[in-house]
Amino acid sequence: MIKKNWSFDTLAVHGSEGIDPHTGAVSTPIYQTSTFAFHNSDHGEALFKGEAEGFIYSRISNPTQQCLEREMAFLEGGEAGLAFSSGLGAISALVLTLCRTGDNFVSSNTIYGGTHANFTHFMPRVGIEAREVRATHLDELEAAIDDKTRLIFIETPANPNLDIIDVAGCVRIARKHGIPLAVDNTFASPALQRPLELGAEIVVHSATKYISGHGDTVAGILIGAAELMTRIRKETLTHVGFCISPFNAWLLLRGLKTLSIRMRKHCENAMHVAQYLSFHPKIEKVYYPGLSVHPGHDIARSQMSDFGGMVAFELKGNREDAKHLIDGLELCVSAVSLGDCDTLVCHPASTTHSTYSTEQLVEAGISENMVRISVGIEDPRDICSDLGQALKRIS
Ligand SMILES: *Cc1c(COP(=O)(O)O)cnc(C)c1O
Repeated sequence: MIKKNWSFDTLAVHGSEGIDPHTGAVSTPIYQTSTFAFHNSDHGEALFKGEAEGFIYSRISNPTQQCLEREMAFLEGGEAGLAFSSGLGAISALVLTLCRTGDNFVSSNTIYGGTHANFTHFMPRVGIEAREVRATHLDELEAAIDDKTRLIFIETPANPNLDIIDVAGCVRIARKHGIPLAVDNTFASPALQRPLELGAEIVVHSATKYISGHGDTVAGILIGAAELMTRIRKETLTHVGFCISPFNAWLLLRGLKTLSIRMRKHCENAMHVAQYLSFHPKIEKVYYPGLSVHPGHDIARSQMSDFGGMVAFELKGNREDAKHLIDGLELCVSAVSLGDCDTLVCHPASTTHSTYSTEQLVEAGISENMVRISVGIEDPRDICSDLGQALKRIS
């Protein structure tokens, strides 16, 4: 029996349904099947017509996938979820469903570099224009809207520089113009921020990151109104085919059980690392929304329950110094991605955000001497001493 008044920590462990009523399984089974038997030919026809409830084929839906979608919707406070084989699959399906050739959408300009490439390299090929603006300036976001704008897309905290965007402010603009607002909630996870409760219509996740939490799968999820999720499933997911596998859906369900406890440790460690770096003489600037000097600190405090596990900093030095620093690390892993138990460090300008032109990097506030850390759940003293010894090696 799940009680809605239990706290997030409890709900993340127990889920919306609790124990499987059919089998008593405490862990959701992996329904490793591609297809599902019909009772008879009429049943098959009815399922295809949408007149009967049930499963047909795992590209369209599968019970393990459905369970993940239901749990993510539950934790984000939405009606329904829709799982994909990657975060970019989820984002592509959202844009391709809401926009037609000739339409545009407005996006914040400081976003994951793969999303930026999708928006500025891929979408124009099908005649959809992404208008990237500095969404920390709400007037710039509103000015980009016209009668062909079908979606507003923001990422907060933003990858890689932890820009904080005012979700409630974006909601006011979106409602005024009657356009849906989607928030990429990858950096925060529902443990720290629930954009639907702030009035957004769609939440996007690269579930590869904190939802999985262990760096063992690539996946994506959308959460929003049931009608919209059904529409995206029918009009895009089913036709394009970027479905999640039952096994990967199960890995994410397993990840949800420890989401709260992991996020708490990520946040605690990130604050420790951010403070350590703030006092280091070889560091120019630290970007962490939990620091009171961060320009988005007050907004972050109002829309997040904690500040997350991502930290970025600028070295006193250049691009080469930033790369040398990473090469000197012994504990922290030099790799892209984030949200893993292991601390991962990367140089955005040459890796995750190499899809940006030099001018776009400047406009998006991603400097050449910036280093991004996904702070893991190790002992924070070990993370800091590794950063310290690597900093010592650079001149
Ligand atoms: C990684 C990432 C994505 C893309 O997700 P994939 O699972 O790699 O396709 C989207 N948004 C953010 C914020 C990310 O960090």
